[in-house]
Amino acid sequence: MISVKNISKRFGKFQALDDISFQCERGQCIALIGSNGSGKTTIIKTILGMVIPDKGIIEFEGKSIANDWTYRNDIGYMPQIGRYPENMTIGQVLDMISDIRKIPEKSLDQELYEAFRIGNLLNKKMGTLSGGTRQKVSACLAFMFNSKVLILDEPSAGLDPISSEILRDKILSEKKKNKLVIITSHILSELDDLVTNIIYVQDGNIRFHESIHALQRETGEEKLSRVITSMLRQEDAKQN
Ligand code: ADP
Repeated sequence: MISVKNISKRFGKFQALDDISFQCERGQCIALIGSNGSGKTTIIKTILGMVIPDKGIIEFEGKSIANDWTYRNDIGYMPQIGRYPENMTIGQVLDMISDIRKIPEKSLDQELYEAFRIGNLLNKKMGTLSGGTRQKVSACLAFMFNSKVLILDEPSAGLDPISSEILRDKILSEKKKNKLVIITSHILSELDDLVTNIIYVQDGNIRFHESIHALQRETGEEKLSRVITSMLRQEDAKQN
């Protein structure tokens, strides 16, 4: 569904991405894992067309995204930090984005809107919201339009534990609907039972990209955090 082919990106002298390639398909939940500054958000932003790569192409359903922006309507995106007009109310932001997307109200996915009780907060200005509430608004917007692809950058950051669970259940149910989910998270335990594939990013390169089952077989571990640390240790041992 999405093919990333030989993408490189420099910021000044800094090589943020260095010839990255991977593919992802419907029904997969891909976790982008790696330390801070390894390039995860830059990968996400090149797929979204928010960062233009110096080299390489990205295809969405077989077509290059470079000349046709309509593919963006098929992606629900939850940024790490949602930026909204601070003087607008939550209601105005939701109305504005619904108007842009031109999707009839009855086909909107209201599940998170209701679970997070956003209806009680519609008159609150974006500038007055706590980080957690802002994150809930971002989640509602990402899931509202029944997009084929969900790209979630640290979705649970700033959310209280119950809301994180609500969001995790929602991601699981979307994956079961054969959507493609691409997710970054620092909390590996919340990715257990959710992800199908791991892309481990290090210094702007992909160190490994494998299915979780293959990684579990190779390492003999079950839990994602142990699978990843064991995989890195095995690779280091091979190199030394
Ligand atoms: P991650 O999401 O893995 O933490 P990022 O993709 O955000 O990493 O960043 C990768 C590197 O690129 C970091 O060193 C970051 O400082 C740098 N970087 C990202 N965006 C920009 C930018 N717009 N200008 C300059 N440097 C950037």
